This record gives sequence, structure tokens and C-alpha cells, in this order.
Amino acid sequence: MKKHFKIIALILAVSLFAIGCGNSDVASSQDTLQAEVTTASPAYIPEVTTPVIRPTEPSTPDYSDVDLSKVIAITFDDGPSTNTPSSTERILDTLEKYGVKATFFVQGVNLTYSEFKERNCALVKREAELGMEIGNHSYDHPNFDKMSASEIQKQLNDAADLIEEASGVRPQIVRTPYGAQKQSTLDAVDYPVILWNIDTLDWDTKNADKTYNEIMNNAKGGSIILMHDLYQATADAVEMAVPALLAKGYKLVTVSEMFEMYGQKLEPNHYYYKAEKQD
Ligand SMILES: [Zn+2]
Repeated sequence: MKKHFKIIALILAVSLFAIGCGNSDVASSQDTLQAEVTTASPAYIPEVTTPVIRPTEPSTPDYSDVDLSKVIAITFDDGPSTNTPSSTERILDTLEKYGVKATFFVQGVNLTYSEFKERNCALVKREAELGMEIGNHSYDHPNFDKMSASEIQKQLNDAADLIEEASGVRPQIVRTPYGAQKQSTLDAVDYPVILWNIDTLDWDTKNADKTYNEIMNNAKGGSIILMHDLYQATADAVEMAVPALLAKGYKLVTVSEMFEMYGQKLEPNHYYYKAEKQD
């Protein structure tokens, strides 16, 4: 019996070496160790198909050299758009071209329309893959200030489920529709509520030059800029504003990145309209 076992252990050791999870010496020596353990205690059959994976420690980014007066967060609400060509896609193309980040506060309902479902789910996935932040902008944009806590939470949960299914990421920040911020609303939203301090009024003017000017005239460190990825004029404005901001030395980051750089912790049930330097 024992002899039999040694043969099995030898076969295991050889096959482990052959099918091991990587080329590293560490993996090989772990495999050998497992085989030795097997020889010593015949009652123990190791799970040979489970490689030992040691996750690397997540490194904390060092933002000490960042000039906070040049860090801003641009945000887009209400998408993904249901126009053609997709203004959301055009905006993503621009952000990707310049290697900058932004935050998209997505409406769940835009991931459900049969005509746009496939395209818009793919766009939300692309947002995540490009390192954009995806926030929750409710299922279908009601005024939270007029709703009960359970109605608000259903709106957020329904949207979060759809966004997570499409992108693989569950949103961790919320922008309330219309910037609702009554205390009863904040109490019901168990996430940080992100508002804005620069309103481009792009939804009203639908004028690329006006939107561009609002951005360029008002941007300063810690700003959260409000736009909507529903309009071609907004996509046009982004095409102009991103290179212009970069030329002025601005760093375009997601909302969460900006607050992290400012050393400001985002708390649930609170609202924020800009990042402020902490003492
Ligand atoms: Zn909105």
C-alpha cells in the first residue's frame, strides 16, 4: 500500500511539474513541497489542480508630487446616449485618444431599450475597461427629494444591477438626478453623493463653443464639471476642451481619484460638489 502511494506521489510530482501554473521557480518549489507532504501523510490527497496564488499587495499610489491646483474631474450624466452616432462613444474616443479619465453617471434604463441595449452595455463595459469611473444616476431619473427611502434605494439598486451586469463593476458613488440633496434623500443614499461646482449648461445651450468656454473660464483645481453625454454638441466641446485643458497643464482624473489625491475621504450619506485640500 505504502509503495503504491509513493508511486502515485511520484507521478503527481512529475505531472505537477509539467502542468504547473507558471514558469517561476517559486511555483515549482511549492509543487515539490506539496508532493513531499503527500509522501509523509498518506491520508492526505492534495488538490493538485489548485495552484497556490499569492496576490501582490495593492500599492498605494503616491500623490505627493501632484499639483492639486491642476487636478479636475469632468463628469457626464444621463448616458449612455440613445443617439446615432453615439455621443457617448464619441466622448470615449476623445478621452481614450488623450489618455485622460472622466466619470460617467449612468442611467440604468439606457441599458434596457431593445434597440440600444447591446450597444450601450458594450459602451459601459468600455468605460470600465478604459479606467473611467462609473457612477449611479438612478434607474430612470426621478426626483429623489419627492420619494421615500425605499423608493430611492430601489432606483439605485435596479440601476446598479444593470450597470454591474454590463460592465462588471458596481458603482460606488451616486449622482442624484437634478442634484437632489434634501436631508431625507442623503439619509437614504448609502453612498457618497457627488454633485458639481461647474455647470456647463450643455443640456440647455447644446452649443459646443458655449460649453467649451464654461469649462475653460471656470476650471480650477478640485473642480467637478457637469456635462451630459447625450448631445453631439457636448462631444464636440469635449474634443476641443480636453487638449486645451492638457495644454494648460490640467490633469483629468475620475471623481474618486481626485478626492484621493486631495486626501479627502468620500463618506456615504454626504454630498460633495468639489474637492478641497485637507489640513
Ligand atoms: Zn441627470
